[in-house]
Amino acid sequence: MTAESKRKATNRSQFIAIDAVHRQPLACKFPEVILILLLFGPPGCGKGTQAVFLAERFHIPAISTGEMFRAERQAGTELGKRASSIMAQGGLVGDDIVNAMVASRISRPDCAGGFLLDGYPRTVQQAIEFSALLQQKGLPNPLVIHLDVPDDLLVARLTARRQCPQCKRIYNLLSQPPKVAGQCDDDGAALIAREDDQEAVIRQRLRAYHELTGPILQWYGASAVHSVDGGMLPDQVARAIALVVEAAER
Ligand SMILES: [Zn+2]
Repeated sequence: MTAESKRKATNRSQFIAIDAVHRQPLACKFPEVILILLLFGPPGCGKGTQAVFLAERFHIPAISTGEMFRAERQAGTELGKRASSIMAQGGLVGDDIVNAMVASRISRPDCAGGFLLDGYPRTVQQAIEFSALLQQKGLPNPLVIHLDVPDDLLVARLTARRQCPQCKRIYNLLSQPPKVAGQCDDDGAALIAREDDQEAVIRQRLRAYHELTGPILQWYGASAVHSVDGGMLPDQVARAIALVVEAAER
């Protein structure tokens, strides 16, 4: 550990102690402490919920690639225009554009105290580029959080989803069942299982996720990746992640 990183680590743990009592924003109290989180997890694991929690808990923006694309397009930037025209032609936006968008986004002032990325890097090549970017900007290595949930549990959760065909409200037979079985609480319409929530479709999405994410986690290495049991209740998962972040910063 260098003197510099030791100093940062010390400040960070001080911050956590202080923050727990006073809830002061990180960026104001210790502007030199920078927390970079990468969040990985399979579809249906509740990653979005955890991203919101982490952003609030550690006073950093949660950045998803989808939001980044929309923001660039709305702002009419050169990157946004290039991405739009590729997508309009049914193409996939390449690593170069995605990397450039991330570089632009994390240079904004709200990222001065750190940030959380959800959905990026999506390939090993992006991870390599991102690592080079962080180094170039003098930023610390990211803390990689992997929400680990057994496929069978995700399949059970997702196949329990039902939707009202009229008002589009989503139910879950396990966690948020309707008051009367098979009927929408709001309009009484018969609930249906969506095509996306069929087991075969879910298994295919999970396979695609593992094929994509496995090599990225491998590239970061076992010592850098912190696996958290994502099968617990959302509050418990949130607490487990917060503990990992605090322990890693010490
Ligand atoms: Zn309804």
